[in-house]
Amino acid sequence: MTAEVLSIGNEVLSGRTLDTNFQVLARLLEESGARVVGHQAVPDDAAAIAAALALAHSRADLVVCTGGLGPTPDDLTVDAVARALRRRVVRDEAVLADVRARWASMLRAPMPPSNDRQADLPEGAVAWKNPVGSAPGIHLALDEGKHVVLLPGVPEEMRELARLHLAPFVRGASTISVDYCVVRTVGIAESLLEQRLGDVTARLDGAAVAYLPGQGGVDVRITVPGGLDAPARAAWSERARALVRDAAREYVYSEDDRPLEQVVGDLLRERGWRLAVAESCTGGLLGGRITSLAGSSQWFDGGAIVYANEAKTREAGVAPELLAAHGAVSEEVARALARGIAARFGTACGLGVTGIAGPDGGTPEKPVGTVHLAAVTPDGEHHRKLQLRGNRAQVRERAVTFALDLLRRRLLGLPASSTGAIGTPPGEPRAT
Ligand code: ATP
Ligand code: MG
Repeated sequence: MTAEVLSIGNEVLSGRTLDTNFQVLARLLEESGARVVGHQAVPDDAAAIAAALALAHSRADLVVCTGGLGPTPDDLTVDAVARALRRRVVRDEAVLADVRARWASMLRAPMPPSNDRQADLPEGAVAWKNPVGSAPGIHLALDEGKHVVLLPGVPEEMRELARLHLAPFVRGASTISVDYCVVRTVGIAESLLEQRLGDVTARLDGAAVAYLPGQGGVDVRITVPGGLDAPARAAWSERARALVRDAAREYVYSEDDRPLEQVVGDLLRERGWRLAVAESCTGGLLGGRITSLAGSSQWFDGGAIVYANEAKTREAGVAPELLAAHGAVSEEVARALARGIAARFGTACGLGVTGIAGPDGGTPEKPVGTVHLAAVTPDGEHHRKLQLRGNRAQVRERAVTFALDLLRRRLLGLPASSTGAIGTPPGEPRAT
């Protein structure tokens, strides 16, 4: 099944709203087995919506629209789509009852009549119940196996409706295999990974291999061919994983979808060790990433945001002389932070992060993106200096990823970095 996404809304075209709905939808469609062949941003204008729909249908089986399902006059997606498809608009009494019930459960005031419009559907459409908002999703099956789906623009509503209704629909309608095996890596650039894995596609009978880069990590996703029975599928997946593992070795942190923080947490739990963190340039993002994981209290105690030098001394016991001699962004201070915070919290392990996230504050010796990380465990200590690229948010996010990876490496007895083995990935940290 092929699919196209229409992001409807003047705010998308004006650049005021970043079209994250497309990103979410494209990924979900692809993972459900549809091939996304087009994407258009469309103004809140009936003629423009009709033209976009016609173009999309000329090349895709399924057109998914997001935006313009609200009760206000600028929300005209339903009317425009109905008119373009020559369908009447009819009020659905069951949907109307839902919209009213939802209103009553949230607000005491009577529902304004304009909201009734959210129960209007093109004739013949099926409404998908919206668990987080009032406008339902709308699914319209057309002739010749074509489909139109209308989803709200509000990202949370769109996502829930897509997850609950669109994904199962696409999975049911699609013939493409959607069984994946995913190997997650950190610290190696996408291009380098691809270079090392080069002929994997050939060795896997032409299987589709996708490289999905995130903040500092790259997931390798291999599509398992359809038509295999369960044991054959398992054997095929294991062969695929082994190929990636042989190429990416210690850069691989997970073969079962676990995020890096969970991999680190599991290693700590196996050893019965607990962790505390001292964060300067990441300002709590590391603790945030760790505690986003349910159950992290089993191995994570807490930490301190030690942004000012005085805080580094007061909260993590870093000697003022050390700060004066080496500067806050230095190997010595990163190590002192990791040791000091572990001592302060009484944990076996500690992580220290200090760096220059930019855009200001860089010097020729310590340019923006310089980050020092240190990890201590009862087995020893690792330090790593990074030269990260990107803006402030990216530097901070990547520093968190590499801090977790440094601890993973320490826990597994791997070297702090393996650039000697695989080479320095462009755009990724240069370790010293
Ligand atoms: P509402 O009931 O709020 O009117 P709606 O279905 O009509 O819902 P829109 O009015 O088009 O949706 O958009 C609502 C909000 O959702 C917008 O203000 C915008 O912030 C966000 N939004 C809309 N389209 C997108 C998109 N493509 N990507 C990300 N966010 C979007
Ligand atoms: Mg609206």
